[in-house]
Amino acid sequence: MTKAFNEPSFRDGVNLMVDRAMSVMGLDEGVAKAIKSCNAVLQVQFPVKIRGKIEVFTGWRATHSTHRLPSKGGIRYAPYADQNEVEALAALMTYKCAIVDVPFGGSKGALLIDPSQYSRDEMELITRRFTLELIRKGFLSPSTNVPAPDIGTGQREMAWMADTYKHLFPEDINYVACVTGKPVHHGGIQGRVEATGRGVQFAIKEFFRHSDDVKGAHMEGTLDGKTCVIQGLGNVGYHAAKFLSEEDGVKITAVIEYNGALINDDGIDIEQLHQHVEEHGGIESYPCAKFVENGHDVLEKKCDILIPAALESQITMENADQIKAKLIVEAANGPITFGADDILRKKGIVIIPDAYANAGGVTVSYFEWIRNISHIRFGRMQRRHDEMRGAEMTRVLEEATGRSVSDKMKNSISRGADELDLVRSGLDDTMRLAYQEIRETRENNENIDDLRTAVYVTSIEKIARSYLEVGVF
Ligand code: NAD
Repeated sequence: MTKAFNEPSFRDGVNLMVDRAMSVMGLDEGVAKAIKSCNAVLQVQFPVKIRGKIEVFTGWRATHSTHRLPSKGGIRYAPYADQNEVEALAALMTYKCAIVDVPFGGSKGALLIDPSQYSRDEMELITRRFTLELIRKGFLSPSTNVPAPDIGTGQREMAWMADTYKHLFPEDINYVACVTGKPVHHGGIQGRVEATGRGVQFAIKEFFRHSDDVKGAHMEGTLDGKTCVIQGLGNVGYHAAKFLSEEDGVKITAVIEYNGALINDDGIDIEQLHQHVEEHGGIESYPCAKFVENGHDVLEKKCDILIPAALESQITMENADQIKAKLIVEAANGPITFGADDILRKKGIVIIPDAYANAGGVTVSYFEWIRNISHIRFGRMQRRHDEMRGAEMTRVLEEATGRSVSDKMKNSISRGADELDLVRSGLDDTMRLAYQEIRETRENNENIDDLRTAVYVTSIEKIARSYLEVGVF
C-alpha cells in the first residue's frame, strides 16, 4: 500500500468518509455497523517452483458485502499490496456497485508480487496456483465471487483464471462467468478493456452538462479547450486521456508516471505517446514534451481538471494545499486521503469521487457477466431486425417526400446496434443516471455540499434498504 504518513490508513480513511456520510443520514447504528464491516478476509500463502527454487507467495481476497451476490471486485498484482489496502478496496466496491445499480456485493483481491520480475510462463503458473487457492477456499465462482482486472492484471490473467476454474468444474455451464475482463474470444465483452476510462469520460461529460456544477468548480462553458493533468498512463489513465482529448477537445498538458512526468502546455498527443511507450518502455524519451524527474510535484500544476489514475494516497495532507486544479476526478481508487479531502473541499476544489468516477469498469463487468450466464452476445437477436426497420423507414420517407435520402443518411438510419454500441450506450446511461441521482441527493440535503458525501449517502441508502427489507439472517 502507498503510505500517507501521519494519516489514517486507506481502510480507515474510507471508513471515515463513510462515517461522515452516515452522520448526515441518521442511520440506525446496527445497520451502519453491518454495512461498514468487512464480511470475510482470506489470506493465502502458497509455494511455486520458479527456476528450480521454491518461492512462497502471499495473496488476499476480501469480501466486504454479500447482500447481493456475486461479490465483485478486481485482483491486483503489486509489490506493495497488503490486507489493509485490499479491505479498503473491497469496501469501495460495495459502495461503487450500489451507486451504479450493479446488483453485486463488494470484494477485492491482491497478490504480493512484482510482475516485471517473472516471465509469462511463470506468471501463468503463479496465477493458476493463486486461482486454485481462491476456488478451494470458496472465494471464486460465478455465483459467489467474481474477480476482474486491476493494477498489474489484465485479460491474460483473467483467461488463465477462467480456464483454471473450468478444469475444476467442467460441469458448470456458467464457468466462464467466474471472472470478468476476459479476452473477447474467451467469453469477454466488447468494450471492457477501455470501460473504466470510458466511464471517467462519461462522468466528466455529465458533470459539464450541469452549468451550476461547472460554475461551482470555478469554470464555465464546455469541455472543449479545458486543460487536464493525468497521473498514470495505464489502462484507466490512457483510455480516459485518449477519449477526452480525441473526442471532447480536452488538452492534456501533463502526463505523470512513476519515474517522472511529461509537460507540454500545447497538449500531448496521447495516442502518439502511448505508441512511444509501447516501443521504448517508458515516457522519458518522448520527444514532443519536456520530461521532468519529479513527477509527483506535477500534481500541483495549474490546470482545469486533474485526473489521478494510478495509485491511492497521491494527494495527502502534505501536498493538498498546493493543488491548483479546479476539478479532481478520482479515476484511481483512493488517490485523495481523508485529511487531504478536507483541505481540498475548503479550498473550493470540486472532487468527483472514485466510488462513482471509476465505476465504468464494474458496470461493463456486469454486462459481461450477464452475457456469460445468458450465453448470448448482446445485439445478436435484434441487430438485423433493427436494420430492416431502418431500411423500411428510409423507404417510407423517400416515398412520402418524393426525395431520395443520401446514402450516408440511409446507412446511419438503418445501421443496427452491435455489441460495442450497446455496451457504450448502457455505460453512458449508467454514468449519467448515477450522477443525476448523486446530484439530487446533494440538492435535497442542506448538510451535504460535496459530491463524495452525496455518493456515499446515495449508495448507503440503497444498501440499507436491502438490509431493512430482507432483514439480517
Ligand atoms: P495499470 O497497472 O494499468 O496502470 C497504472 C499506471 O500507473 C501505470 O502506467 C503505472 O506505471 C503508473 N504508476 C504506478 N505508480 C505510479 C506513480 N507513483 N506515479 C504515477 N504513475 C504511476 O492500472 P489500472 O488498471 O489503470 O488502475 C489504475 C487505478 O484505477 C487503480 O487505482 C485501480 O484500482 C483503479 N481502477 C481500475 C479499474 C480497471 O478496470 N482496471 C477499475 C476501477 C478502478
